Amino acid sequence: MDLIEFKTTFDTDEYIFKEGDPGDCAYIIESGMVEVVLDKDGRKLVMATLTKGDIVGEMAIIDRLPRTASARAIVPTEVTAIPLDYVSQKIEQSDPTVRMFLRLTMARYRDLNARLGLVFEGLSLGQGDSSSDSFASSTMELKNVMSQFIEMQKRIDSAVSKPVKIENSELFGEKTLEVTKLLVTEEKLLKDAMAKKEFRLHYQPIIDLSNNQIVGCEALVRWNHPSGELMLPSRFVSQAEDSGLIIDLGYWVAEQACQFQSRLYNDFEHDLFVAINLSGRQFDDQFLVTSLADIMDRTGASRERIKFEITESLLIDNPELANRSLHQLKETGAKLAIDDFGTGYSSFSYLHRFPFDTLKIDRVFISAMARSQKSEQIVRSLVNLSRDLGMEVVAEGIASKQEAELMRNYKTTLGQGFYFSRPVNETKFVKLLRQPQIKLTG
Ligand code: C2E
Ligand code: MG
Ligand code: MG
Repeated sequence: MDLIEFKTTFDTDEYIFKEGDPGDCAYIIESGMVEVVLDKDGRKLVMATLTKGDIVGEMAIIDRLPRTASARAIVPTEVTAIPLDYVSQKIEQSDPTVRMFLRLTMARYRDLNARLGLVFEGLSLGQGDSSSDSFASSTMELKNVMSQFIEMQKRIDSAVSKPVKIENSELFGEKTLEVTKLLVTEEKLLKDAMAKKEFRLHYQPIIDLSNNQIVGCEALVRWNHPSGELMLPSRFVSQAEDSGLIIDLGYWVAEQACQFQSRLYNDFEHDLFVAINLSGRQFDDQFLVTSLADIMDRTGASRERIKFEITESLLIDNPELANRSLHQLKETGAKLAIDDFGTGYSSFSYLHRFPFDTLKIDRVFISAMARSQKSEQIVRSLVNLSRDLGMEVVAEGIASKQEAELMRNYKTTLGQGFYFSRPVNETKFVKLLRQPQIKLTG
């Protein structure tokens, strides 16, 4: 798929694709004009002339058969390519009914086109001299055949499928086009970033609040963007989830984080735990647990010092899958944490239904605690409940000395937040470890 440029320009008379070519892309026409041409025995029949906003070449990527016609730019034309991979993935992820309809419509369309091709050949043979040269020279006859052909094509079009005129279609409005373009661009950028190794891990210390010692850290992914900006996950994780790239990215994160845990122990003799965030989408991968176990072993990480953080959305969206996978993950010897607890649809029942070792209280409660009695009560009861269930508690997002003190009073064991340290790169993290106690920045 590397041959495909996201935006491509074609010169006048240049072919975008030819009949028989593999269907590797659909194209949104950005500017210019494209003719869809059928080549029958050297005679070219223009099937459609498409302009800005039209899509060309979509059929072959839906049913994954070779092109049935050629597409040629008739003036300089700019297109946006939508790769086969992208569409296939979207189709596979779609509702089975939608998939069935798409395939059926395509099969019918192909079938009708094939029959039309026979009619066309029959007509051409029936017109006096069957030699193609003399036929082509007879403009009148050709026009006649073409008009019948186009008439038939029109009827078929209205019956089964029309070239999608995006601006005018309710189903496929301007917004869909923009969103599609954005998704394709983002996905391509993310894939490139992965190939160019532009992702980085930062580590945020997790502190034992009783003595201010670092006992572990959370691995947080960043994108070292070519623009020079270090992008935070809120800018790309959900796109990576939508495109499925989170599966590869997730393995990369796990590998780096496990290597880090192993390095901390072997090179610096620090026996810290490293927490790794797992997106719900990663659980779609049936090899997730075995692959993670393999990564922990391969990197020499200590399994009981690896903690996987999961948010409630996985438990809500697919409790069966979550239950199975979390128990399997737990059997590897790794630890499990429920992240951002208190946001979303938190249910206390999750805490005993799923095998969590740690509860991370979302930072909204920590920051509201000093001002709101309700938040304070929520935190207090969460801490008590977790303790009763034998779970460890991490207060997330401790941003001030006051918050740290409050959490210490609640006998919350662990804390994490900008007050202690922002997420930092490996070198800075190792420097923090050299201090007897984490330097209080407040
Ligand atoms: P999270 O897992 O809850 O991670 C904690 C987030 O809170 C981090 O944001 C961290 O920088 C931020 N934070 C920590 N202390 C404070 C504080 O005192 N104040 C404030 N305002 N923020 C604080 P970050 O790194 O931007 O990550 C955001 C989220 O992105 C993470 O939330 C996690 O859900 C997701 N994420 C990060 N790395 C990964 C990853 O490798 N894989 C997956 N699937 N998700 C990730
Ligand atoms: Mg987390
Ligand atoms: Mg969190």
